[in-house]
Amino acid sequence: MNQKFDVVVIGAGISGLSTAMHLKEGNPDLSIVVLDKQHTYGQGNTGKSAAGYRDIFKTEVNRKLASSSIEFFKSIQKSKGFDIGMHASGYLFLVRDKSQLDLMLHELSRETNIETVEKDEIKNSLNIRYDLDPEQAKFMKLEGYDKGYLGKNCGIIEPELVADYYYRECVKLGIQFNFGTQVSGLTLVPVNPLDYPGEPFIWQDKKIGSIETNKGTFLADEYIMAADVYTTGLLDKTGIDGHERPKKRQVFQVTNKKIVDMLSKQIHTTEGIMPFTILPSHGVFLRPAPKFHSMWIGVADDLARDFSFTEEPQAEHDFYENSIYQILTAYSNNFENAELTGSWAGYYSYNTADMTPNIFKELNLTVISGTSGSGIMKGDAIGRVATALFSGKEKAKLYGDMEFNVADVGVNNRNVKMEQLIL
Ligand SMILES: Cc1cc2nc3c(=O)[nH]c(=O)nc-3n(C[C@H](O)[C@H](O)[C@H](O)COP(=O)(O)OP(=O)(O)OC[C@H]3O[C@@H](n4cnc5c(N)ncnc54)[C@H](O)[C@@H]3O)c2cc1C
Repeated sequence: MNQKFDVVVIGAGISGLSTAMHLKEGNPDLSIVVLDKQHTYGQGNTGKSAAGYRDIFKTEVNRKLASSSIEFFKSIQKSKGFDIGMHASGYLFLVRDKSQLDLMLHELSRETNIETVEKDEIKNSLNIRYDLDPEQAKFMKLEGYDKGYLGKNCGIIEPELVADYYYRECVKLGIQFNFGTQVSGLTLVPVNPLDYPGEPFIWQDKKIGSIETNKGTFLADEYIMAADVYTTGLLDKTGIDGHERPKKRQVFQVTNKKIVDMLSKQIHTTEGIMPFTILPSHGVFLRPAPKFHSMWIGVADDLARDFSFTEEPQAEHDFYENSIYQILTAYSNNFENAELTGSWAGYYSYNTADMTPNIFKELNLTVISGTSGSGIMKGDAIGRVATALFSGKEKAKLYGDMEFNVADVGVNNRNVKMEQLIL
């Protein structure tokens, strides 16, 4: 049976949820359905996120997307009283004097709230060494650090609670959800059909006419693709480029008594939680997870991490043991013999051209892709920009009345430099 709506949104992760909510808020008369193959919302990469948030990005575009979303999230938690597990416990980058990162963060401290922290304060508080064993440092290419940069408008959040907020708002607004609905393809049709076999021909105007799912065909005037790393595969047959590539990302949950003590070592905040900390070498990060009495460890490793894609990616324990554990213990004996109590893997949807989200329109299809590992912290702004694009506006109003040039994150008139702060 065909089901007809004004708008079909594919994907009930943070991108699809936020877009559906903002779209319906601005256009209450639209009938909108959100489809997801999972049994409920937020089960894709949204649910696998390490869920740190920061407004520290090299490019202004990314700073705007993140900082406005962070302000919106704060408003949900404070004014609306909806707990999304948000703690402004900071992001701490450990750096060498005069390194590239030092210069970049120094420059960014003019744009956003960043403080420097003395190395001894960090060492005494978190028990992270700045004076490494020289032989091990040389062998493993590890750097010590001379100071820390602490982002104050940064911290941790719970993505399933954020998704929960958007979902509830969507339902209140009358948006329909169909879970367990797997989209298998989008059908391209001529705008003015001739009912002749083989349409659409190269000279005919085209549009997405319908989408096929395991629950039948869905028809709409407009479609929104928010399927993250599934975007490219779903679009392949239409000839539309998804402009994203998936790369596997893993989180390892570790704990022991020292780690539990470490979790509560706040630095220049009153949250009672240590900052999300980026070690000086190889991009390994420590994400405090006080709710689980654990530390989540991750790294956006690049070379030798292939681009292959599977439905159910698994965390690799040998990667933790051979690559990560060695680094952790070189910096802090807190991690020695830590128990690995959990692990999971998902994908970053990388826009490999500039590591910044894409929000573009092709025919009657709005596509959100390439969230590049920071789709939660930019999730609200992404929904607003997609809504503005859908509505044919050149400028989106981000939360806090910040204006955003929609074309900047599009494809044809894109205006973004390479983002260098990818974690
Ligand atoms: C390990 C890891 C750590 C991360 N850490 C952070 C972080 O600290 N901070 C941050 O901001 N971001 C982080 N991210 C990135 C962030 O999680 C993503 O950018 C964000 O979740 C993308 O949201 P989305 O809605 O676009 O995609 P998703 O949440 O993946 O949603 C896409 C939805 O589409 C559905 N779907 C896919 N194919 C189909 C189909 N054929 N039919 C129907 N439905 C379909 C899926 O089921 C899914 O629910 C991390 C990601 C990973 C994997």
